[in-house]
Amino acid sequence: MTPVIEVTDLQKHYPVRKGLLRRQVGAVFAVDGVSFSINQGETLGLVGESGCGKSTVARTVMRLIEPTGGSIRLNGTDITGLSKAEMRPFRRQMQIVFQDPFSSLNPRMRAGDIVGEVLEVHHLTRGRATEARVAELFAQVGLRPAQMAGYPHQFSGGQRQRICIARALALDPQLIVCDEPVSALDVSIQAQVINLMMDLQRDKKLSYLFIAHDLAVVEHISHRVAVMYLGRIVEYADKRDLFLNPKHPYTEALLSAVPVPNPRLKRQKRILQGDVPSPMHPPPGCPFHTRCPYVEPRCRQDVPTLREVAPGHLVSCHLHGL
Ligand code: SF4
Repeated sequence: MTPVIEVTDLQKHYPVRKGLLRRQVGAVFAVDGVSFSINQGETLGLVGESGCGKSTVARTVMRLIEPTGGSIRLNGTDITGLSKAEMRPFRRQMQIVFQDPFSSLNPRMRAGDIVGEVLEVHHLTRGRATEARVAELFAQVGLRPAQMAGYPHQFSGGQRQRICIARALALDPQLIVCDEPVSALDVSIQAQVINLMMDLQRDKKLSYLFIAHDLAVVEHISHRVAVMYLGRIVEYADKRDLFLNPKHPYTEALLSAVPVPNPRLKRQKRILQGDVPSPMHPPPGCPFHTRCPYVEPRCRQDVPTLREVAPGHLVSCHLHGL
């Protein structure tokens, strides 16, 4: 089966320029060799601390920013080098939902027009047909057709995110990139939006690239999970495998901070020491060696490669070498 999206060795480096002549004096390695694929009806959770490059991956996959290297294949077609015009038919197949629903909605437009605009720009419907389709989309995301007349400020945070989801669904995409879609919402509302997304996935066989820093949310919605650190994936596995048997010390530390609902099952907390190093000057060897409790001399020199240590479970750490 061809994956809906297949990303290979994706890189995004930002040049750092200085002086009158704006000469390049370095680069920020925001994303540095990320690979993954997502099948139809599957959710890949992408987790990591702020600044690890998750959102840059989201925007690069959507071709909202240009990758420095690597390839992005959508349903088997390489879309990496396509021009804006060539990208147009592919845009319909993938949509994005951002973290802050308020700033991603035009405050001067009615909710119904925000969703309808997408349909008309892509010449899918006009006039009354647009209205009928928008009403249908509103119903799918749990909003009343009467709410189409409201402005964004008249909705709650959860409702605004529902409008964003309706807009994303308007073009009948196969892939939705969700960049921290519930982080700005109250916990009770988060659950409603996540459940809505899961229902829509079941009904429409949608694929999600779900980016979040809240591991409990990722555990709930994902089928597979990729853990990012300093622009690279350090662990990639089936959700169950990753949460029950994390192998990378960074994943271990992230999971140890997630509260366990059963008070008898206490996790040993591992507090990460130090800050995430600058992506402009990533440390030599293993990028995690400056904070790793198991660091060995070779970790300071040799870069570990991401390798399969169990079926479908990939880890980038010398402790799990061959
Ligand atoms: Fe820690 Fe070394 Fe593994 Fe990196 S390679 S995570 S420093 S043990």
